[in-house]
Amino acid sequence: MSESVEHVLIVGAGLAGLRTAEELRRAGYDGELTLVGDENRAPYDRPPLSKQFMRGDTDDTALRPAEFFADERITLRLGVSATGVHTADRQVTLGDGTSIGYDRLIIATGLRPRRIPDFPDVRGVHVLRTHADALGMREELANARNAVIVGAGFIGCELTASFRAQGVPVVLIEPQSTPLAAALGPQVGALVARMHGEEGVDVRCGVGVEALVTEGDSVRGVRLTDGSALEADLVVIGVGSVPATDWLTESGIPLAAPIDGGGVLTDEVGRTTVPDVWAVGDVAAWLLDTGRNKRIEHWTNAGEQAALLAAALLGTEPPAAVRVPYVWSDQYDVKIQVLGAPALADEVQVVEDKGRKFLAHYFRGGTLVAVVGAGMTGKVMKMRGQLAATAEAAAL
Ligand SMILES: Cc1cc2nc3c(=O)[nH]c(=O)nc-3n(C[C@H](O)[C@H](O)[C@H](O)COP(=O)(O)OP(=O)(O)OC[C@H]3O[C@@H](n4cnc5c(N)ncnc54)[C@H](O)[C@@H]3O)c2cc1C
Repeated sequence: MSESVEHVLIVGAGLAGLRTAEELRRAGYDGELTLVGDENRAPYDRPPLSKQFMRGDTDDTALRPAEFFADERITLRLGVSATGVHTADRQVTLGDGTSIGYDRLIIATGLRPRRIPDFPDVRGVHVLRTHADALGMREELANARNAVIVGAGFIGCELTASFRAQGVPVVLIEPQSTPLAAALGPQVGALVARMHGEEGVDVRCGVGVEALVTEGDSVRGVRLTDGSALEADLVVIGVGSVPATDWLTESGIPLAAPIDGGGVLTDEVGRTTVPDVWAVGDVAAWLLDTGRNKRIEHWTNAGEQAALLAAALLGTEPPAAVRVPYVWSDQYDVKIQVLGAPALADEVQVVEDKGRKFLAHYFRGGTLVAVVGAGMTGKVMKMRGQLAATAEAAAL
C-alpha cells in the first residue's frame, strides 16, 4: 500500500462495510477509518428481520457492541447519506451539506427494495430491507387480520412463515410457476410450495398483482391479474431490490447497466477503474471467474469479498480458500441451504423427499454444480469439498 493512505472512507454501514473495516484492521491497517451510513443505527444484521425479529423472538440484531467501534478506532457517522463523489479531489458529499475526504473510498451501500410503480403509498403496505421497515411491519402484524405477500423469493417465503407463526392467514402471490423458482428452479420450488401449503398458506403461482384496493389512506386488499380480489390489511411487496447507486450517477464511477442487474463494476477484488475507489457487498458487481460481472445478494458473500478486498487494498496475502457460494433461509422449523450455483444446472435430481425435509442435486453436463437441502444440514455440508473441486475446475 502506498504511504499516502491515511484515511479509508467506507460509505454504507451495513454488513459489507463493517466486515471490510474489520478485515482492514485485522490485516494491519492502522490509519483513520470512517463508516458513513444513512440509517440511524450502528451496523446490524438483516437476516433476523424476516425471521426471529419478525416473530418477536429477538430484538437484538447488532453486529458488534458499541465499544467495538471505539476499540478498533472506527468512526461511525450515522444518519447521514452520501449524495455524491468528486473523484478528482477525493471528496464525498453528504446530505447534511458537508463533505468528507478520502485516500481510499469503499462503496458498500447495498440495495433498496424495488417498489411497484403506480401503487399508492398507503398504510398497511410494506417493503422489507431495514430495521425501521421490520419494526413498522411487526407492529402492524400484531393486529393484522389477513396478509398478502407479493413475491415468493427468499424474503417473501420467510415472512410468510413468520406471519403464520403469529397466526395470521397469508396468501402468497408469485408470478412464476412456484415459490423460489428463480433461485432454485421449479422442481425444488414445488417442494417449498407444498411446505407452505401444509402450513395453511394459500399459495397462488402464475399470477400477479394488478392493483391495490384502498379505503382512505389504508390498504384493504389487492386485485390480481386473473381478475380475482383478495382482502388484506397487511400487504408486503417482496419483488426484489435494486442497487443503491443513485448517489453515484454523476461521479463517473462505472456502473453496470440496469438490464445486467446494475451495481458498481469492479475487478475480481473489488477495485473499480477509478483510482482508489472500491466496492463490496450487495451493491458491487464483481468480476467473477466466469468472466462476467455479477452482484451477489447474500450474507456469506459480503464477508468473503471484504477479506479479499482488504488484502488487495493493503497488498497483503489474500485468503486462499476456494469460494463455494452459500445461502441459507429459515422457514418454519426448516433450514433451507443452498451450496453452489443452482442457476447453472441443466438437470435437477431430488434425491431425498421426506415430508418437509428434502435434498436435491443440481448438475450441468453431468457435473454437480449445486446442492439444495431442507432440514439436511449434514448432507448438504458434506458436499462442500466436491463442489469446491468443481468450482476450481469449472469456475462455478
Ligand atoms: C430481510 C432480509 C433477510 C435476509 N436473510 C438472509 C439470509 O437468510 N441468508 C442470506 O444469505 N442473506 C440474507 N439476506 C441478505 C443479506 O442480509 C445481505 O446480503 C447483506 O445485508 C448485504 O450487506 P451489504 O452491507 O452489502 O448491504 P446492506 O446490509 O444493505 O448495507 C448497506 C447500508 O448502506 C446504507 N446506504 C445506502 N445508500 C447510502 C448512502 N447513499 N449513504 C449512506 N448510506 C447508504 C444502507 O441504508 C445500509 O445501511 C437478507 C436480507 C434481508 C433484507
